[in-house]
Amino acid sequence: MRPELTAASGGSPCGDRSAPAAPDWEAFWSRIERLPTEVCDGCTDCYLRCAGELQLTHHEFASVRRFLREHGLMPLARTPSRGPLDPCRFLRSDHFCAIYPVRPVICRLFGLVEWLPCPKGHSVPCLQDGPALIQAYAEFPRATYAEWEQRLATEEGAHANY
Ligand code: SF4
Repeated sequence: MRPELTAASGGSPCGDRSAPAAPDWEAFWSRIERLPTEVCDGCTDCYLRCAGELQLTHHEFASVRRFLREHGLMPLARTPSRGPLDPCRFLRSDHFCAIYPVRPVICRLFGLVEWLPCPKGHSVPCLQDGPALIQAYAEFPRATYAEWEQRLATEEGAHANY
C-alpha cells in the first residue's frame, strides 16, 4: 500500500489483465516535496556518504541538467564516471551539494529513513511511509547522469539525420 500513489500506479484489485499503469511521477513528487526539512541543521557532515555514481530518473536528470545549465556548471557534470568510493560528481570541495535545490530523491531521504541515518544523530527515522517511498521510487527507470546524457545525444543525433 502506497498512500497517495496507488491511484495512479495500481491496477484493478479484481484481476484486470491490462498492462499496469506507468508510475506517476507527479503524484510521487508531490509527496517528496512535502518531506520534512526541519530535522536537518545543515551541518554537511553527511558529505562522506555522497559517494559513487547516482542513479537518476529521467525527470531528475532533466531538472539537474537544466539547473547545471542555468548556473554554468555543465563541466561539473562531465567528469568521468565515479567508482563506489569516489565523491559524488555533484559534491563541491566545501562539502556542499552543487545541485542541492534539485537533488535526487535518494538524497532528500537522507536522515529520514532508518537505512540512511544522519551521522550525528541529529535527525531521527521519522517517515512512516519511507519503505513505500523507496519502493515507489524503484519503479521509475533510472540511469546515471552520463548515461542519460548519452541517450539524449543519441536521440538528438537520430533526429538530426532526418
Ligand atoms: S547529489 Fe548532492 S546530496 Fe546527492 S549524493 Fe551528490 S552531493 Fe550528495
